[in-house]
Formats: sequence, structure tokens, C-alpha cells
Amino acid sequence: MITILSGGTGTPKLIQGIKKIRDPSQLNIIVNTVENDYFSGLYVAPDIDTVIYTMADVINEETWYGIQDDTFITHEKLNDLGCGELLRIGDQDRALKIQKTQLMQKYPLSKAVDIQRKKMGIKSAIIPMSDEQSHIKIITPHGEMSFHQFLIEEKAEPSVQDVVYHKVTPAPGVIEAIEGSEMVIIGPSNPITSIGPIITMDGVLKALKDTNVVAVSPIIGKQPVSGPAGKFMQAKGFDVSSFGVSSMYEEFLDTFIIDSEDSQFKGKIEKLITDVMVTNTKMGNIGDKVALARIVLGEIV
Ligand code: GDP
Repeated sequence: MITILSGGTGTPKLIQGIKKIRDPSQLNIIVNTVENDYFSGLYVAPDIDTVIYTMADVINEETWYGIQDDTFITHEKLNDLGCGELLRIGDQDRALKIQKTQLMQKYPLSKAVDIQRKKMGIKSAIIPMSDEQSHIKIITPHGEMSFHQFLIEEKAEPSVQDVVYHKVTPAPGVIEAIEGSEMVIIGPSNPITSIGPIITMDGVLKALKDTNVVAVSPIIGKQPVSGPAGKFMQAKGFDVSSFGVSSMYEEFLDTFIIDSEDSQFKGKIEKLITDVMVTNTKMGNIGDKVALARIVLGEIV
């Protein structure tokens, strides 16, 4: 088995490559939940739904959110009615969110997601990091904001002083998946808001230390490929670079994969991580994704 730790953009791109060359039934995907929240009365688990749609081959690859070619009739009607829905939820995507909200009246999140992924014919286990809610807060000079307020309403423009969330307990299966895997892959996801919350949960660090862990840097040069990871890393006192990411993972990481553009950092990173590989990590098309997946899986050395 292989276990992947995921957020909702960078790692799902890599997962598209991995699932082309590995049997999906041999994959566990542990997904960040600290961005989960209620919108229009619906429980929204953005990263989990992105992973579900990625595995079902229906993800909207322009936004890495929602279903490709979805319609937005309900969203527009809600806005006409003055409801002002902050998240742009598509009609088909809304159906999955309605079902998840209903299931969660009876079951914990992990069980609800398991029911949904099986209904959608997904063979991989999709495991929410926790069944407990932890809302991430972004601290800015204009005050404290929810993650979505910062990202959507404020377009990630304010400077960031801190990022806070409280520690939660791993969902059933999280520690077992890591312990029972021949390899754990940390995809190129936001190290502060996607991966950080997973690795700070009790028991995860120890399980990672005892396993072969490979990570891909989400930072190329001095900035992330997309999204606010740079601002968040800076607020937490980390260098915004692949070196900065390696310093966050050094306690448990065995292999770190950095972009060819960052080859000058290889020597510096090798002081923290024994095995550093340099390759193209920009995943523009499926060929790039499969090529990177082969390197991550150790098929090309
Ligand atoms: P979120 O939940 O939407 O924030 O998504 P993730 O945490 O999974 O991914 C966000 C990170 O993915 C950002 O820090 C990006 O820099 C990184 N990313 C996105 N696309 C790529 C890519 O093609 N290559 C690399 N190396 N990183 C990427």
C-alpha cells in the first residue's frame, strides 16, 4: 500500500499521475480538513471533494475545485435572492455536498466520505485527516479571517501575521494507513494549511518517522506555483523556498524532490535530508504528472 497526504491542488495533480501507473485500490489518500466549513447550510470539505473528483476523473482542472462543465444555476439564483453565496458551488457539485451534509447527520465525516467514494466507484481509500472540526484562522493587520474569507473575499491580498488552527485527533485509519504503507508520499501541497495540520496531529509524526516518506516541494524559486503558501510560510518564519519546506519536514523526511530550477539549493538541503532529487516538478499536463509520479515512486532514480 501507498499512503498520500493531500491538500486540494498540487497533490491532486500528482495523484492523477500516480493513478495512471498504480492500482488505485493500493492507495490511501489522507486529506486535509481544516478548510472545511458550512456554506448555504451545506457542509463543504473542499480538499476532500477535490480528491473525490480527481479520483472519479471529473475534476475541474482550471480551478481545482468542483466538477468540470458544471452549471451554476442554483448559485446564481441564490445570489439573485440576495443570499450572496461566498463559494461558487456548481449544481452537480452541490448534490455531493447535500448528500455529505445529510450523511453527517448520522455518521462521522470519515464514514460519510467512505460511502460517497464507494458510490462513485472510487477504489482508493479517501480518509479525512480528522472527524473533528478545526477552523483555520488567518491573522492579518485588518483582523482575524476565516480561510475562505481571506482567499475569496480578500483575494489573498492582505499581509499575513499568523495562521492558527487547533490540533485535532486523527480519524480512524489515519495512523494505521501510514504505519501499514511501504511508502508515504507528501505531494506538493501547502505545507502550512494543507500538510501542517495533518502532521501535527498526535501520533502522525511518530508514524512518519518509522516509514519511508517522499515529498515534492510546492515552492519553486522564491514562490509557490499557485496560492498563498508563500505568505503563510513567511508568517510562520520559514524561508519561502524549497529549502524552507525541507526545514519543515526534516524530522521525518527520507527523500525530497525539488524542481530543476532549484538545483542550486541541493547541497544546502542535503544537510537536512539525506536523499534530494532534482527534476521538473511543474505539472502542466498528464505527461509531466506521470513522469513526476514515476520519480516519486522510485521507478526512475
Ligand atoms: P489547496 O488545498 O488548494 O491549498 O491545495 P494544496 O495545498 O494541495 O496545493 C497548493 C500548493 O500546490 C501550492 O503551494 C502550489 O505551489 C502547489 N502546486 C500547484 N501546482 C503545482 C505544480 O505543478 N508543481 C509543484 N511543484 N507545486 C504545485
